[in-house]
Amino acid sequence: MALLSSFVSGVLAQRDLDAVQIEVLDVAEGVYMLTGAGGNIGVSVGDDGVFLVDDQFAPLTEKILAAIATLTEHPVKFVVNTHFHGDHVGGNENLGKAGAIIIAHENVRTRMSVEQFRSSMEMVIPAAPPGALPVITFTEGLNFHWNGEQIRVFHVGDGGAHTDGDAIIQFVGANAFHMGDIYFNGMYPFIDLDGGGDVHGLISAVNQVLALSNEDTKVIPGHGPLSNKAELEAYRDLLQDITHAVQAGIDSGLDLAAIIAQEPTAAYDAAWGGGFISNEAIIGAIYGSLSRR
Ligand SMILES: [Zn+2]
Repeated sequence: MALLSSFVSGVLAQRDLDAVQIEVLDVAEGVYMLTGAGGNIGVSVGDDGVFLVDDQFAPLTEKILAAIATLTEHPVKFVVNTHFHGDHVGGNENLGKAGAIIIAHENVRTRMSVEQFRSSMEMVIPAAPPGALPVITFTEGLNFHWNGEQIRVFHVGDGGAHTDGDAIIQFVGANAFHMGDIYFNGMYPFIDLDGGGDVHGLISAVNQVLALSNEDTKVIPGHGPLSNKAELEAYRDLLQDITHAVQAGIDSGLDLAAIIAQEPTAAYDAAWGGGFISNEAIIGAIYGSLSRR
């Protein structure tokens, strides 16, 4: 649980950030993925300036900017947050001060503006400083015409997905996506029920991206290695399978402990259970999501 808390809160993680290195990966023409600590970062580079998707933790901003400087001499003009979690928005205040415009779904600004409580981890998340808040918000989405590219930012999960303020970013010309925490590649996802998450919304968001993808599509997940359509399909299939099993348990009157005892994730644990979210945690989140509908 300590590992999970440090991963999602950004508070405990800071003790380890000195040793973190930012690595740059080629995704597609003009698009890169940065890894470090916290959520993966997406970068569009070109003559207009840098367009960033998420910004990890505040103490990493200097290292992130140094990594970007190896790609381009242009400054960061826009930062889009995929959702409100601290390991995706932690650099907002630094980048805003440096001149970037911060953009996110309206619910991201709303949740960042006030203290949040995450019951599954008994964790209080303090309100963000005003300088960290998105200054442009949207409800459906918006388009950027930038770096010779169309960059589509669209909200997914009308009843919630990973949270209630998720955005997916599509680099149309480059045939690449940043999915935020809609997609945990190679590990069970965190579904933030207190933050407005919902498993059906999560699955339908994945299906939206699959419908826009082909064999050449590159997919930046919120966490885990750079991915593609085939791996995203496997993720969708396991989420559907586990969700159906949990729903069947609920329909036959079983409680959470009885559903866990049926081992609905058994076929997936070896490949997907080694991440931040245990098999019991994902079953619990799906159960919680379905039983409050
Ligand atoms: Zn998240």
